[in-house]
Amino acid sequence: MLSKIISRQDLPKLVDALAKDYLVIAPTYEKNVPTFSEVESSSEVEFDILFNEKLPMLPPKKVFLPPKQTIFRYSLTKGVTDSCADISDAVSHNKNIVIFGASPCDVTGVGVLKRIFKDNYSDDVFLHVYNKTTIISVNCLDHCYENCFCETMSANDPKSGFDIMLTEISKSKLIAVPNSDKGKQILRNYPEIFTKITEEDSVAYSDALKLKNKNFKTEFPVEGLASHVEDSFESKIWEEFAQKCLFCGSCTFVCPTCYCYSVKDTVSVDLKDGERQREWDSCYFPEFALVAGNHNFRETKEQRFRYRYLHKFVDLPRRYNFEGCVGCGRCVTYCPANIDVRDVLKKVRGVM
Ligand code: SF4
Ligand code: SF4
Repeated sequence: MLSKIISRQDLPKLVDALAKDYLVIAPTYEKNVPTFSEVESSSEVEFDILFNEKLPMLPPKKVFLPPKQTIFRYSLTKGVTDSCADISDAVSHNKNIVIFGASPCDVTGVGVLKRIFKDNYSDDVFLHVYNKTTIISVNCLDHCYENCFCETMSANDPKSGFDIMLTEISKSKLIAVPNSDKGKQILRNYPEIFTKITEEDSVAYSDALKLKNKNFKTEFPVEGLASHVEDSFESKIWEEFAQKCLFCGSCTFVCPTCYCYSVKDTVSVDLKDGERQREWDSCYFPEFALVAGNHNFRETKEQRFRYRYLHKFVDLPRRYNFEGCVGCGRCVTYCPANIDVRDVLKKVRGVM
């Protein structure tokens, strides 16, 4: 078996070793809010976020698709001068990235983004970062908090999209299971941290997976969800929730699978140079569907509220065979109007 054991007290040692070779992104607190940030040493990492039922507010999406990003600079005389311009120095200087501590649902979320930005069409800026990144995921053996419904969305047990999965097999030990060549390489590179697995460890791992299987429960049925959402097109449900919604867009920004952005060019006064930037956008903003001639495809609040559900639960499953939701519950946690995506879906599904 290629898997190895790492003791929990060696996790800081692992981060420190990785930080010498990679740009490490790990859970931290920013102004008391759990988040993922670049770290230079283990002292900056908040390991309690990984093991104490918390989820960083912004998912790893911000690594691959930053909130605001210059995608290239150009000049009238030289053409495109600086592709992927805003990617940090470490990346442009060929330092690879490790995302340490992504949850299984966030791994599934990155997989959704990959399908959109790699398989659907090839987004060079996204792929530049994606191809340099190694994901070390920390397994969940139970729902991490009350807003999590990853099991319902089949997102708690990804089979791909991560390079190493760390699973707690006791209070002091984790098993590191590699899932790619990049993952295997990391296990080989730090032999003082990753040690040999014993027969006893294998049994404990199998028990941990059984426990995981037992703990996760589906909250509501999702089969046929696309048809239920579509059939509810004229329902009063959308108006009911749209009345409460502030259309602040928070739910779309914290969502690991929402990927819409707007693009703007900034041009120098002599019109000879410029740069193109993209910036997160939200289908909940009134201008999102505004086009030339002042025509807005989704003028009303109900239309905007409904559209997000149509996109996530009808359009994406029909086009790609996956839902645009991994059940992380962030949109519930950070909604100032207390709108719960589960309540909307349960009403649509007729189980509430
Ligand atoms: S976070 Fe809540 S209030 Fe804000 S747009 Fe989303 S559903 Fe509406
Ligand atoms: S819709 Fe809400 S629960 Fe689903 S993935 Fe996005 S933030 Fe998480």
